[in-house]
Amino acid sequence: MSVIDINQSYFILPSTNILVRGYSRSIVLLLSESNYHYIPNALYEILNLHPDRTIAEIKLIYDNKFSNIIEEYFISLVKRRIVFPLNFSTEHKPQKFIIGHTCDKIIDNAIIEIGEKTITNLKYLINELSELGCEHLMLLSKGKNEKNKIYDFLVSFNNTAFRSIDLAVSWDGTEMNSFIESFFLSQIRLFRVFIYNANENSVNFYDKFRLKQYILSKDNILNKCELSFQTGFVISKSMYVDSISNNNCLGKKLIVTKDGNVKKCLLSNEVFGDITKNTLSQIISKENFWCYMNYSKDEIDVCKDCEFRYMCIDCRFRRTTQDNFSQPVFCTYNPYIAKWQSEDGWISVEQWRAENPGWEEQTIEIRDMNKKRLANND
Ligand code: SF4
Repeated sequence: MSVIDINQSYFILPSTNILVRGYSRSIVLLLSESNYHYIPNALYEILNLHPDRTIAEIKLIYDNKFSNIIEEYFISLVKRRIVFPLNFSTEHKPQKFIIGHTCDKIIDNAIIEIGEKTITNLKYLINELSELGCEHLMLLSKGKNEKNKIYDFLVSFNNTAFRSIDLAVSWDGTEMNSFIESFFLSQIRLFRVFIYNANENSVNFYDKFRLKQYILSKDNILNKCELSFQTGFVISKSMYVDSISNNNCLGKKLIVTKDGNVKKCLLSNEVFGDITKNTLSQIISKENFWCYMNYSKDEIDVCKDCEFRYMCIDCRFRRTTQDNFSQPVFCTYNPYIAKWQSEDGWISVEQWRAENPGWEEQTIEIRDMNKKRLANND
């Protein structure tokens, strides 16, 4: 068996391993593994600028001043399966990441609130959402003692084309555990059940192998948005594609409330139509329904300098300022110092910017580099 000489190696970065440059550090998104790794910005630059050179050639570009560090970098990348070494140059590069699959969906995900009007029109809603390409659903129950209704609702989605269903429901007693099990049994595509108003906060697996889980939260999420249900970042191909091309929360989403109203966001009062009067296709044909398509993460202040921007859900309704492109208000991360509010040494973005008056010029180069990578789709 031949042993690869790391110095004479070329390296291959798989097309689903995405380099993301932040202001103070970078990450590699491993889309196929739903995982990510931190890398220093210096390594991002090497991977970005010298994809066709051997490690020895890369060392030479830096006058062999950083040879040990460069070698350590690459050994660590290979160990973490971020790059793969090759002892020959190849013109057969990994295929570029295909973004068409999620881009051709008109609606990618929807929230349906369980209520009389949505129950009466459920068959029609399922057909319409399927025709629009919707694959991911969240079912929301805000009423009390709705377990039997929820069960019937879930059964209606058997034999449909939806790929995943989440359910959010209010806790109403200890016998809830047996109902959680019956929910999972009634619908094979049910992945996450969020129980709010619970007597504890916990994350539990119903089926660890299939990543089916139920999350208990003491919070009362009524009138909060679905972000309250989320636990951490989302790393997936569709999240990445949505984040670079439109608003990753609202871009291709619709919500049908229990009154039959169609909205974009649970926090918004804006109603685009009524499912008992118009078809979903008619309702979403209004121009302002699509106004969030322009708000990609690369346009949002602060986020555009953050390494987490293609895995972090964006909120346009709760922003730090009136400016439509300002940072989401719930964020406690400062990407300029790579620290969360809970960490020692954290200061706010405003304070950091005031203390570093030349910061904006330093971001121009980074943003240009990001734009070039996205334009080349590599
Ligand atoms: S909301 Fe915060 S963590 Fe998320 S991308 Fe923006 S700055 Fe980063």
